[in-house]
Amino acid sequence: MFESIERVPGDAILGLIQQFKDDPNPNKVDLGVGVYRDEHGNTPILRAVKDAEKKLIDTEQTKAYIGSHGDPQYGEYILQTVLGADSKVLAANRASATQSPGGTGALRLAADFLVSQLPGKAIWLPNPTWPNHLGVFEAARLEIKRYPYVDDNDQFDFDAMLKKLKSIPKGDIVLLHACCHNPTGFDPSQDQWHQILEVVQDRELLPLVDFAYQGFGDGLDEDAYGVRLLADHLDEMVITQSCSKNFGIYRERTGCFIAIAKDEEDMQDVRSQLATTARENYSNPPAHGSAIVATIMGSAELTAAWHRELDEMRDRINDVRQKLVEGLKPHGLADKFAFITDQRGMFSYTGLTEDQVNKLRDEYSIYMVASGRANVAGLNDDNIEYVCKAIADVVG
Ligand code: PLP
Repeated sequence: MFESIERVPGDAILGLIQQFKDDPNPNKVDLGVGVYRDEHGNTPILRAVKDAEKKLIDTEQTKAYIGSHGDPQYGEYILQTVLGADSKVLAANRASATQSPGGTGALRLAADFLVSQLPGKAIWLPNPTWPNHLGVFEAARLEIKRYPYVDDNDQFDFDAMLKKLKSIPKGDIVLLHACCHNPTGFDPSQDQWHQILEVVQDRELLPLVDFAYQGFGDGLDEDAYGVRLLADHLDEMVITQSCSKNFGIYRERTGCFIAIAKDEEDMQDVRSQLATTARENYSNPPAHGSAIVATIMGSAELTAAWHRELDEMRDRINDVRQKLVEGLKPHGLADKFAFITDQRGMFSYTGLTEDQVNKLRDEYSIYMVASGRANVAGLNDDNIEYVCKAIADVVG
């Protein structure tokens, strides 16, 4: 039976990781894979996470199932972090949290929920977007449509985005990146979020806000500006959240699906459906990551330590963006790449063409995604000059 099954190409980024590993060049630089790197190129476990794990060894009482919605305490902490402790939505009991296996698990829950409960609605994704949005939504058989996000020069094109959103059929679903847009790094300004809200209200759209990088842009509250604005003004929306990046617990698969309804009654109806969706997919979410997060958030000391480490990661990313543009100055390229300091999060659409990306890889062992997306967290004081010189060569 298996004879007729064809082999498909693997994930492009995983292929890139392998090529990087096999590359013997001692100067090689990985700007491809989407994890945070410190100045030594490592992705260490946060101290707050380690301390929480030590605490858990002594205090955890059982490994029994945690239920389809996961740990309620974790859900409460995530709701407060995403929506703000003083959120009107929380006060009115209009938001439901379902713990999920990472942000990807939350997206799959969202997709299955939308397909089964709101059949016939298309989801509009920015172009470009995180490629797995397409994978997850296609797998769930959700109809996918696109709105533009960048222009021909790979710069943020808010006017084109808004124009398209204004033409979306009433009642469709629109996916918005809350902050640190992957892959471009371009986020709407606060004023632009207000314009998005107006269109969403006018077209009666259901926003699905994907929030995978809270704290990596400008700060935990600052990065939530758009999400909270929409939540404050809309009756209904859904949010997919991830703790992978801001807690650095990628492999623990810790995320959350949040549904906001117009009142508590509707919220409970939606919530009951989500328990079924989760049960049919994987029954219960994994518990270790949410236990880490809840332990940190339940301790003022660990929360303060986590905030410090999150600040460190964010400051490093923003610092390295400045250094990259400064490093391009002697090559006469600072103006051309000035937009890099406006972008937020780990990812940068560099505007480099596929040919230039290939040349960087083949001649300099600098690895980034074919679209020209670079993970700037892969840069450090040891490699930044080398990368700037290489960019100047391939651009020149
Ligand atoms: N959404 C976006 C935009 C992402 O970039 C990612 C991860 O790269 C995710 C969701 C999923 O994150 P997780 O690793 O928690 O599944």
